Amino acid sequence: MTILDGKKVSNDIKDEIKQQVDKMKAKNEKVPHLAAVIVGNDGASLTYVGSKVRACERVGFESTMVRMSNTTSEIELLDKIDELNQNDDIDGFIIQLPLPPQINTQKVLMAVDPSKDVDGFHPENFGKMALDMSTFIPATPFGILELLDRYGVETKGKHTVVIGRSHIVGRPMSILMGRKGFPGNSTVTLTHSHTKNITQITSQADIIISALGVPNFLKAEMVKDDVIIVDVGITRVPDETSPKGYRITGDVDFENVSKKASYITPVPGGVGPMTIAMLLKNTLLAREQRM
Ligand code: NAP
Repeated sequence: MTILDGKKVSNDIKDEIKQQVDKMKAKNEKVPHLAAVIVGNDGASLTYVGSKVRACERVGFESTMVRMSNTTSEIELLDKIDELNQNDDIDGFIIQLPLPPQINTQKVLMAVDPSKDVDGFHPENFGKMALDMSTFIPATPFGILELLDRYGVETKGKHTVVIGRSHIVGRPMSILMGRKGFPGNSTVTLTHSHTKNITQITSQADIIISALGVPNFLKAEMVKDDVIIVDVGITRVPDETSPKGYRITGDVDFENVSKKASYITPVPGGVGPMTIAMLLKNTLLAREQRM
C-alpha cells in the first residue's frame, strides 16, 4: 500500500513555484498577487484563508486578505468584487465560501472576472474545463489530478466512482476523470445521496474519490482489494483529547480501508494541502496570462 502524500507533493509544488517567482524577481518582473475575500467570522473559513495567505508568503507571492462583516450586503460584496476586477495589481482572487444567507453565492461567483477566477468556479471557466480547453481547473480536483499524476497512478480504462456531486469537487472530478488524456480515460460513475445500493457500486470501483463530508462513511467491506482511494472529506469531529477540542476526519475509515488499498490519501495530509498548492499554481498562471 502506498500513501499518496499530499503534504510532500504540495511542498514540492510550492518549491517549484518559488523557483519561478525567484526568476521573476531577478528579472524585476511583478510577482503574482492573490487576494482572498472572507465575509463573516466562520472559524474554518478563517483557518483556510490564513493557510492560503501563509502559502503565498512561502512562495514569494503578494497577498491581500479582504475581511468583510457578517452583515455585508450582496451589493457591498459585488462592489468589492468589481474593485478587485478593476485593480490591475491583483492577478487573481477568491471568495471564501460559504457566504452568509443574505448573499446569493451564484450571483457573486458570476461577478468575478473569469481571467482572475483562480478558483475556477465561474461558469465560463467550468465550461472550458468540460470542453478540454485551457482554463483554471478548480483547485481541489486539480490537486487530485496532480497527485495521481506525480505518483504515476494509472487511470486509463479504470472504473472511477466519485461520491458527492458538489460543483467544487465531485462534479468537476467526474468530468476530469472521464476526459481524454492522463489522468483521465476512466469510466466514471457519479454517486450522490439518492444513489441506491452504493456498496454494490463502490465494491466494483478501481478508484474511489470520496467527497461527501460524512466521517468514516467508506468502510472496508464497501471496497475491493487493491482499490485506489482519494479521500476529500474534511469534517471537524469533537475530540476532548485534542487541544483544539476537535480532530479532522475524512470520509474513509482509513485504518481498515488502507489494509485493502493499493494507494490511499490520508486525512489530514492528503488532498487538503494539494488544494492550496494548486490555488497558487492557478495564480501563477493568471499572472503569466496577464504579462
Ligand atoms: P457538499 O456540497 O457538502 O455535498 C456533499 C455531496 O455528498 C452531495 O452531492 C451529496 O448528495 C453527497 N452525499 C451526501 N450524503 C451522501 C450519501 N450518504 N451517499 C452518497 N452521497 C452523499 O460537498 P463538498 O463541498 O464537495 O464537500 C465534501 C467534503 O469535502 C466536505 O467534508 C468538505 O469539507 C470537503 N472538502 C475538502 C476540500 C479539500 O481541500 N480537501 C475541498 C472542498 C471540500 P446530494 O447532491 O444528493 O445532496
